[in-house]
Amino acid sequence: MFDALTDRLEEAWKKLRGQNIITHANIQETLKEVRRALLEADVNLQVVKDFIADIEKSAIGVKVIQGVNPGQQFIKVVYEELVKVMGESNSPLAKAESDPTVILMVGLQGTGKTTATAKLAHYLKKQKQSCLMVAADIYRPAAIDQLKTLGQQIEVPVFELGNQENPVNIALQGVNKAKEIEADVVIIDTAGRLQIDQGMMLELTQIKESINPHDTLLVVDAMTGQEAANLAQTFHEKIKITGTILTKMDGDTRGGAALSVRKVSGQPIKFVGVGEKIEALQPFYPDRMASRILN
Ligand code: GDP
Repeated sequence: MFDALTDRLEEAWKKLRGQNIITHANIQETLKEVRRALLEADVNLQVVKDFIADIEKSAIGVKVIQGVNPGQQFIKVVYEELVKVMGESNSPLAKAESDPTVILMVGLQGTGKTTATAKLAHYLKKQKQSCLMVAADIYRPAAIDQLKTLGQQIEVPVFELGNQENPVNIALQGVNKAKEIEADVVIIDTAGRLQIDQGMMLELTQIKESINPHDTLLVVDAMTGQEAANLAQTFHEKIKITGTILTKMDGDTRGGAALSVRKVSGQPIKFVGVGEKIEALQPFYPDRMASRILN
């Protein structure tokens, strides 16, 4: 990921051997290298600009400690800024005061929304929380069956009313069912489209208004880079999300989405999907991701 950023920074820094303080003048070559690496990783341009300005501000005036590799000192500054841009710390799921916690899953088709719904239920089950999944995607052929199959696999019940019922109704009845069976968490899988359209947003707005979810999580595909960040921004403007799940982080991703999504949408990345298997979901930790980017 980010194509050996640490090596590139150290290389750029070598030219500065013998300098004992980081200054505006001697940092420019290195900053250019950071900028190049971020743009190659498909990070949003404004995020890159702000990031470069911030690391320059933090680095200037730093005394190069004798005997310590100056490149390493600069890399520490970059590391700290990476953590900051990705949200500082882990953002946990919302927790309702009285059960069930209602989680609404939204996103475009093919991003991994249905898979993420089941992965999340599996993750919560491992934490000893009982879940109900609700199949409210009535448009994609086989979406309901897909969720039911996953439900059987992880032994989590699935609420469905077929594909003739109104999704708002399905969501509402699903939440009622969760209350009835005293589930701790109810996760609702909604319909995705190939692109954002008015019908989809209207339906999501109506579902949100009727069930009042504690968390509205947008599932985005990390492989789409800047597009993922733009989607998060648009969804947040239109329906107010409370976080994102970044899927396909295991793929041949250039990684830029992890840096852009938080900054562009203002909402935290809560989980990352790292494979097709049901266990392949991890809480998102900005510090761990920063280390991964730099290694
Ligand atoms: P939906 O249309 O958004 O509900 O998408 P699906 O959940 O059906 O997933 C679409 C495809 O992406 C499936 O083939 C999934 O196995 C795959 N997928 C989902 N999440 C991940 C992930 O984190 N990594 C990888 N490699 N594939 C994933």
